[in-house]
Amino acid sequence: MEEPRTRLSTRIDFDRDGKQCDHLRLPHSVHRSAYGWLPVPLVCVKKGEGPTVLLTSGVHGDEYEGQVTLTRLIRCLEPADVSGRIIVLPMANYPAARAGLRTSPVDELNLNRVFPGTRDGRLTEMLAHYIDSELTPRADYMLDLHSGGSSLMYLPTMILRDSAVPEALMPRIMEIGRVFGAPYGFLFPAVQGVGATNVSAAVRRGVVALGTEMGGGGTVTPACLRICEAGVRRVLRHVGVWHGPVADDEEPAAETRLLTADTWDYFTYASEDGLFEPLVELGDEVEASQRAGLIHTPETPWQEPAEVRFEQTGLVVCKRVPGRVERGDCLFHLGADMVETGDG
Ligand SMILES: [Zn+2]
Repeated sequence: MEEPRTRLSTRIDFDRDGKQCDHLRLPHSVHRSAYGWLPVPLVCVKKGEGPTVLLTSGVHGDEYEGQVTLTRLIRCLEPADVSGRIIVLPMANYPAARAGLRTSPVDELNLNRVFPGTRDGRLTEMLAHYIDSELTPRADYMLDLHSGGSSLMYLPTMILRDSAVPEALMPRIMEIGRVFGAPYGFLFPAVQGVGATNVSAAVRRGVVALGTEMGGGGTVTPACLRICEAGVRRVLRHVGVWHGPVADDEEPAAETRLLTADTWDYFTYASEDGLFEPLVELGDEVEASQRAGLIHTPETPWQEPAEVRFEQTGLVVCKRVPGRVERGDCLFHLGADMVETGDG
């Protein structure tokens, strides 16, 4: 018998017209459930010919704007409005999403650091492998919806490049970014990228893929949610896969301010363990050597707080939320305006 390509299974037939809502079965045979599987929600809506768009959220389980966006979208997707195929995976790392955690409570892995995954790996690696080998190859476009999660809050931002992108793809990604229309867009230098993310795996397969960072803080920020929902719908309409109506209150596309961070100096980290007092806010323009925050030590209240200073000049796009910090925790992340180089 031929070895299966994946150990996950689904009853969804991606080649069949119609709206199919089911679960991906992630094998999980444990003490309380021999032969059991974890139900990863998966939806495919297809009609006739056209592009395939893959929409993912919950790659980090504690990032909620994307999960709400896709949950709401699934309910209004009807085959009559579709030309092509829309595949939606709203809780991509299902165990993490169900627990409201960034990483999986089963194997402690971060799904967005294990792509392309392995067929016979741990649960999170098997999920990455399924997405990379079964879903992504079917897609022409992919949106991977993230936000800051429990520990960070982001301005509504698109991640237009998080690693090396094939040259021919970059103008098409920028076009989709313009259509999505978040107020901020990040292009990280190709050399700096993680390379093991969902989006980086997709662009290696030639998919026009981009990510988002929409709010965070372990909650749903309504303003970011509206930007996210409108952006997804605009992209679906723009590529011709969906002809759904424009809602009366649909957020218009913003002019995107393009940002970059070409060194790790744009990230500010806690230098001590303690209690973090931020001295700037999201959206502030700050300068190198400006004070970013104080770290107090209530355990030894007679000690002066440690000062943390920015190492670069830029816009505060991301800020730590919880007050308690440990040395090495990210406190802020800045963006510098992109300088037009003419090479796109
Ligand atoms: Zn994330």
